[in-house]
Amino acid sequence: MVSYRDLASGLKKLEIDPAQPVIIHASLSTFGEIRGGADSFLGALLATFQKVMMPSFTFKTMVTPEFGPDNNGVIYGSGKDINKMAEFFYPDMSVDPLIGDLAEALLEHPDSQRSTHPILSFTGINIPNILKSQNLMNPFEPIRTMMEENGWVILAGVDQTVNTSIHFAEQLAGRKTFTRWALTIHGVTECKNFLGCSDGFNKAQDWFSSFTKTVRIGNTKIMALPITNVVQTVKTHIQKNPKALLCSRKECPRCDAIRNSLKKK
Ligand SMILES: [Zn+2]
Repeated sequence: MVSYRDLASGLKKLEIDPAQPVIIHASLSTFGEIRGGADSFLGALLATFQKVMMPSFTFKTMVTPEFGPDNNGVIYGSGKDINKMAEFFYPDMSVDPLIGDLAEALLEHPDSQRSTHPILSFTGINIPNILKSQNLMNPFEPIRTMMEENGWVILAGVDQTVNTSIHFAEQLAGRKTFTRWALTIHGVTECKNFLGCSDGFNKAQDWFSSFTKTVRIGNTKIMALPITNVVQTVKTHIQKNPKALLCSRKECPRCDAIRNSLKKK
């Protein structure tokens, strides 16, 4: 069983300046049993870092309209049944289960704040300026603000496919982005610069090896990477090879849309 002390001492071994902001992506199940669960993990994070952020995305607000822009990785009019299940975004809406229990624990923490994007919100502690930098047009602006503050990405038991900073780098490199729609109290809201598919992101792991710090807690690998290095490395590779990091699934609506957009140029 992994304890609070194991977690706190493992995170400390990353030797990150506690004043630098961190974005954490974690899968608690990879640790086996954690004494005290997600709250214990969150406590260890907050004892190690002063400024903590996690994605608190809410995909259940999404609706598919009957019409929309071409080559958008979506089949219009296909969402009739799912649209009926969509929920209006509200500030305490649960984090998508795919993102996990740690982000939910952060959201429930009395000192946390959440940005207001109806699909791609972030939640954090002591980072009001970073959260405020997000807007509907620029959902990944908090990653840029973290770069300016020498922030780090921490991947705890997860791989690069969940690394949100890579999505920001794709956009900086000029890669096509997507439009999606969400239910809000103001009606159906258009959300520009929505993320592409991340299934091919593990190909970036080798590019990052020279600046990745790794520690183990129990049997789980924890990686820490400077956000600036991640973003600049990915941007450079995509500018050199516009198909870099696209997935190799046979039919992937968003990766195929990006390939289409390259043909047109
Ligand atoms: Zn794909």
